[in-house]
Amino acid sequence: MKGWMRAGIAALAASAVPAWGEEPLPAYAHRNRDREEMLTRGGGDAATEAAVQDGLSWLARHQSPRGSWNPETFADAAGDCGCAGSGEPEHAVGVTGLALLAFAGAGHGSDSRREWKDPVTGETVRVGEHVRRGLAWLAGTQRQSGQFDGGGNRLMYSHAMATAAMCEHYGLTGDAEWKRSAEAGIGFLLAARNPGGAWRYTSRAGDNDVSVTSWCVQALHAARLGEIGDRVQVDAALTGARSFVRACTDERTFLVGYHARGDGKVITTGKNEEWEGHPAMTAAGMVIRLRAGEARESRPIVAGAKVLVSDLPVAAGKKIDAYYWYCWAQGLYLCKGPTSKYWNRGANGALKAALTHSQEAGEGCLRGSWNPAVDRWGFAGGRVAVTALNVMTLEIYYRHRPSEGAEVEDGEPEPGGPKFGQDD
Ligand SMILES: [Zn+2]
Repeated sequence: MKGWMRAGIAALAASAVPAWGEEPLPAYAHRNRDREEMLTRGGGDAATEAAVQDGLSWLARHQSPRGSWNPETFADAAGDCGCAGSGEPEHAVGVTGLALLAFAGAGHGSDSRREWKDPVTGETVRVGEHVRRGLAWLAGTQRQSGQFDGGGNRLMYSHAMATAAMCEHYGLTGDAEWKRSAEAGIGFLLAARNPGGAWRYTSRAGDNDVSVTSWCVQALHAARLGEIGDRVQVDAALTGARSFVRACTDERTFLVGYHARGDGKVITTGKNEEWEGHPAMTAAGMVIRLRAGEARESRPIVAGAKVLVSDLPVAAGKKIDAYYWYCWAQGLYLCKGPTSKYWNRGANGALKAALTHSQEAGEGCLRGSWNPAVDRWGFAGGRVAVTALNVMTLEIYYRHRPSEGAEVEDGEPEPGGPKFGQDD
């Protein structure tokens, strides 16, 4: 064989594997390897998968050339397509994290070679390229402290979502670049925690809320699966978060409050008072408890599941709430598993109907997205965030294995930490 030909074949062979030659971590391999089997077992189907694919195509179409997903100016990225539904621009880091989590949920990492035709433009979606650009943009926002910094006054939401995305994408690819960024992000997350407690909008803010804390816990869980960060510190943070949720849990109803026990409906004045309330904090609290190692048979988990099946997803009127649906699906699916009667008698059917019927269809550029104007929290992250959340909810069947998260040491709350109201 002539030298140039050998060199050509060698170059071809080299280009057939990712440059870093890494593999997905074991805790993430199922998203590609077992996806179909898990989908079927959990009750997903061709319609839910088509909704995921259309949602990801919409996200890919509206990614900015720089790699971010902008809650306000996303339509510019699609050539001023006219898609409405702006959110608040300060959430660009968090919303980019959510979009990247939606890709990760379906197993699409930065090294993916999968591609498909965009159903609106007919152009080829090279999913790995979208993911790589998004991660590179996120990493570029990271400060020396490890904080993913997009500005705004709710930085812990954005930071936690970005960190979770970086951890999951490291897990999917084994890429050292994402690992460095994820480790720094987890370092900042741990440093930003209220000592002995949980999290609020800013670093060491002094008080805590269940909603921000649930996103921080999702990042910590992704870190545990990817063996990122100091395990002792990560587990201590999970235990602290669980203690806070305990303090927010009503002992009779097992409903979880936002800041404290029984503190009622969470609203943003002038934005969403007219929407119906849902037990989103109860669902988020269940996820925190489960990720911190609480047994599925515990009273708060069993009672919480009963609360969740009494308020199923419905895409009608002022009940629409993508944030609740995301927490709801995780809380119920992770504690009861894909084959439970809770999941199969009505809950999964309600989820599928709510999400597939409310997704935009047709030939236009909106296809694959969800309308934020009818969503309870749509004003914040806009069409990009609502779409990313709903895609993640539809990935519930295979995103996580239901057995994950039970191995954290079921320790006592840390001594010396702040008291969260009455102790239970
Ligand atoms: Zn558009």
